Amino acid sequence: MSQEAPPPKRRITGYHSEAPYSFNDSQVDDIVRVCSYHRRDHDYSVIWFHPSTHTPVGNLCDCKPRESNFTLGTIEKLPVELIQQIVLGLDIESLFRFRQTCSRARELIDNLHEYRAITSHALNTFLALLRTESASQVSLLRFYQLLCFNECAFCPSFGNFVHLLRWCRCCYDCLILSGYVTALPSNLQNIPIRSLPYLETLPGLYSTNLLEENPYTERTLLATPENIATAYQQQNAEEDVIGGRLEWPKEKRVWRFMACCAILSFDPKTNKVESGISCSGCELAFDEGHFSDDKDQDEEELAQEVVGYCNKVYSTTSYLEHFAWCHHAQALWIASSSESVRPANLPQMCQDGGFLRARDQDFWVSAVPYKF
Ligand SMILES: [Zn+2]
Ligand SMILES: [Zn+2]
Repeated sequence: MSQEAPPPKRRITGYHSEAPYSFNDSQVDDIVRVCSYHRRDHDYSVIWFHPSTHTPVGNLCDCKPRESNFTLGTIEKLPVELIQQIVLGLDIESLFRFRQTCSRARELIDNLHEYRAITSHALNTFLALLRTESASQVSLLRFYQLLCFNECAFCPSFGNFVHLLRWCRCCYDCLILSGYVTALPSNLQNIPIRSLPYLETLPGLYSTNLLEENPYTERTLLATPENIATAYQQQNAEEDVIGGRLEWPKEKRVWRFMACCAILSFDPKTNKVESGISCSGCELAFDEGHFSDDKDQDEEELAQEVVGYCNKVYSTTSYLEHFAWCHHAQALWIASSSESVRPANLPQMCQDGGFLRARDQDFWVSAVPYKF
């Protein structure tokens, strides 16, 4: 594995090792456990429900086999494979309603492995779609396909967020920087946005910089700029949009975060899930202010590069490629005596579970009930 790891684009002396570190397949799980951690502050920066809010919707995930005496009428005359294809094409809102109609509909849906995977591994996203009123925009099949994929839509990083309006994965950097994930309020000029894809934001605690979390109580209808323009056009002349009579609101960064939810990645071949991991070695280098041994390299530029390494989220495969060249992660691994002891200098952030301070339970995103 380490022999195949491609070298970093720019090798930093003292930060990257001189040669790829060798390890064997039996050490992979331990290396990941000792030298990486999951950044829960990313999860908490967007829509995130306290686990207790899942209790009232527990039956969504209760897929125990049941005998049903009901039938779906004439639909039952279709081959079961065809019925399943129809159900896979249902949007999440229709699926939710259909599952409530009778025990036969529930049995049919619960037997779909796509539904089981989603309610087992992506319940937060499922509930976020329902509670933000954006569930009619995503089919069960599209949801499952996104769950089984892990790459950011805009760069090769692990995409640990799903953008509910765009229905695509994105990473933290792209959530901040990409113009494509812009989300704007649509209720400023009586635009009939409810006829087009939109979502209603949820009150709760959001963080746009990972250092401070702020409560937001607003419930705003958000949409993509092109859908706002289309809705505006439907009741105004096209030249009003082109000529600039549509007054675009100034974007608040928090709207992007209110349109996103953290999501795992599911591998249907192995049934394994990944939440995305970050490098404890890079966090250690940042904590110690150790950026390079090379005095010719610009310290500030290097510091920024190291911050980029700290914030990066990897799949297990891409993390191992990074580990093979990350001097500080290798040092942690060696200090752990090959996983038998926890390294004494493991950064506090990694020990605390990936966030800087504990979250007050009162400030989780509210469990706004479904409206249908
Ligand atoms: Zn990205
Ligand atoms: Zn590293």
